[in-house]
Amino acid sequence: MSEISDFPITPHGGGELVDLRAPQAERAALAQRAAGLKAITLNARDLSDLEMLAIGAFSPLTGFMGEADYVRSRDEMRLQNGLPWSIPITLGVDEQEGGALRPGQEVALADEAGTRLAVMNIAEIFRADRRREARAVFGTDDEAHPGVRNVLGAHALCLGGKVTLFADIPGRTFLEYRLEPAQTRAQFRQRGWRKVVAFQTRNPTHRAHEYIQKAALEICDGLLLHPLVGETKGDDVPAAVRMETYKVLLQQYYPANRAMLSVMPAHMRYGGPREAVLHAIIRRNYGCTHFIVGRDHAGVGNYYGTYDAQKIFERFDPQEIGITPLPFEHTFYCKRCEGMASFKTCPHSDHDRLILSGTRVREMLQHGQYPPPEYTRPEIAAILVAAMRQKTKGPVPQDKGAGPSNAR
Ligand SMILES: [Zn+2]
Repeated sequence: MSEISDFPITPHGGGELVDLRAPQAERAALAQRAAGLKAITLNARDLSDLEMLAIGAFSPLTGFMGEADYVRSRDEMRLQNGLPWSIPITLGVDEQEGGALRPGQEVALADEAGTRLAVMNIAEIFRADRRREARAVFGTDDEAHPGVRNVLGAHALCLGGKVTLFADIPGRTFLEYRLEPAQTRAQFRQRGWRKVVAFQTRNPTHRAHEYIQKAALEICDGLLLHPLVGETKGDDVPAAVRMETYKVLLQQYYPANRAMLSVMPAHMRYGGPREAVLHAIIRRNYGCTHFIVGRDHAGVGNYYGTYDAQKIFERFDPQEIGITPLPFEHTFYCKRCEGMASFKTCPHSDHDRLILSGTRVREMLQHGQYPPPEYTRPEIAAILVAAMRQKTKGPVPQDKGAGPSNAR
């Protein structure tokens, strides 16, 4: 009997959650074997993929992709077996390193410090077309796009095959909040949540996000606030600062038995619509039944249409994705509505709405000013302002104009 057979949503593909970690009793022997193998060095993004694979967040994948899965996920957003999968998960290797390897060979996977963490059985060695991949996934091969830069910078020669971890990946953060798919599922079950909505985020939570989360929570039993804590681009707010904002928000503005905070170790690809689909599939693996898709989900710059990340789900049969996407409009505080609203629910004009650009909000925070409380909760603004001050290491400004009382 499967451990999760009584749970309302199965992992992606309908099978079991994948777990690529060797049983405790076998780890020492595996480590010993790995010590004698050729080691392949993984960068931070590869390690993040390795962790996602190992804990089953990428179920049903059991390793880095081979060529057939690579090509079909790139060109058709599906695995070789037809299952939806919108972004290739590959392990590129240096030409010289890879050239000496053969299918059937075992290699060790190591971090940049040389610590060996896993054994990989090389099923195949193939060449990825990184430029075609970038165009397919991001709709562009413009190197100003951070995801494109990462893909074009990745080695073309790829190793496909099953991996087995025998050690914890070093440097993992937020351990207390780092629940794996089996653990979030257990938590949901324990809390009696059957309908769980996930909110993906890489940003601090403003009132607009809170409103969307709570609107979704009205039709679900629980909310999983699920920030991504793998690598993001340099100008995104650091994960440690974001985590403080999430904790404070949940403590003060959400019922404890309805909302849960846990981190997701994936790195950000800025893949817009394609990444929205991947994000949804991942959350299904974590046991969520619903997934919030905002405007320009996983977007960057002006590479994607505002609603592309919502519309892309229409290209799949809802059954094969399994998790239900919940598309949301742009939301804001409206003075005439006297509350949070969206383009769908507010008949007034922008004149009545409190709409601030991300750039403007960043400027305010940098100057120690709190955005209006209808835009950002003062408790959250305080954390962001403090973080900005620390980052710039400038003199701490006087309270003048900086307190929540005179921010309006
Ligand atoms: Zn209004």
